[in-house]
Amino acid sequence: MDRVTFPERVAEIDLDALRHNVRQLRDVAHPARVMAVVKADAYGHGAVPVARAALEAGAAWLGVAHVSEGVALRRAGIEAPILAWLHTSGTDFTAGVEQGLDLGISGWELEHIVASARELERPAIVHLKIDTGLGRNGCPPDKWDALLSRAVEYQEEGLIRVVGIFSHLAVADEPARPETDLQVTAFREAVGAAENAGIDVEVRHLANTPATFSRPDCHFDLVRVGLGIYGLSPFADQGSADLGLKPVMTFSTVVSHCKEVPAGQGVSYGFAYRTQKATTLGLIPVGYGDGVPRIATGAPVLVEGRMYPVVGRIAMDQLVVDFGATGLADTPNSLLGRRAVLFGGSGAPAVEDWAAAAQTINYEIVTRISDRVERVYR
Ligand code: PLP
Repeated sequence: MDRVTFPERVAEIDLDALRHNVRQLRDVAHPARVMAVVKADAYGHGAVPVARAALEAGAAWLGVAHVSEGVALRRAGIEAPILAWLHTSGTDFTAGVEQGLDLGISGWELEHIVASARELERPAIVHLKIDTGLGRNGCPPDKWDALLSRAVEYQEEGLIRVVGIFSHLAVADEPARPETDLQVTAFREAVGAAENAGIDVEVRHLANTPATFSRPDCHFDLVRVGLGIYGLSPFADQGSADLGLKPVMTFSTVVSHCKEVPAGQGVSYGFAYRTQKATTLGLIPVGYGDGVPRIATGAPVLVEGRMYPVVGRIAMDQLVVDFGATGLADTPNSLLGRRAVLFGGSGAPAVEDWAAAAQTINYEIVTRISDRVERVYR
């Protein structure tokens, strides 16, 4: 049997582009430092290689949601500071403390973390999280003073070391909205209260990617940037290039069948599409099992320099494009076996084209590309 030399379904990850983006964000955030957010397998790009490349490019910190994600990075030999901020009663805090992770705390976690620190006879590194308005995790402002006094007590006992105070923004991708001002004010108050309580923090951090670009008043000591390091824009009216960023992921496969069909041919489940005229259909062997959103009918696919629309329903393993839709019906079979680029790379559709077709955001498109798609790093 012939050896397969090109992965059939591949997400190429351009680590040079990633390093460029980290440096760009460092410049924008300077003198604040950069935390590269690599949760959810680095938004689908691969946590370990991305973390290494981000650190090479000068990121000072890594950010993940779960302790287990941080532990996996440690096990891969990454020694940089890693903050994990989203916990449950099932979280293995002992592993987190043992691995020297920084642990975000909203309230209830503190006692669990202190228990682990006692058991390990090693102080836990913590960042206290205040909810300044997002309404998710983070300590509510009316419970902040109580959290601070417990933190001071445990710090004096040598069980924790409070390294940071942080919060997360709700509407930074819409810079004109006034709610960010309220969040900044609430954050400053929370930091002030901590200082009054005698907590001397090393890093105050509030900004995500959109705030890093649009709100210098949110930079403080550290910015937590995810989307931007992957070269994607959080703004509806500005693309990656406008922000000096380079998209990192290219998602492609090969045309696996070409089929000449008459007018009136139903295509895929439910016959949601019927050909208007005789045409050639191309089968693209990726579907929602690979993380392609099922509702993204109409999204463009690049084959041999031309864009073709996805027609009919996207299935688990495959989708169909209409090669006749852009006038190349006369030479369709030459497209069999040719590379089909769903997004990324020059001249190809952007992640945002797929996000628009799927009525979602670019974050989701890249993050949901599944393990079935091989990651290739260059
Ligand atoms: N900080 C926190 C707490 C987050 O949950 C996230 C991502 O959702 C980020 C920072 C990074 O946000 P962005 O990808 O917009 O830079």
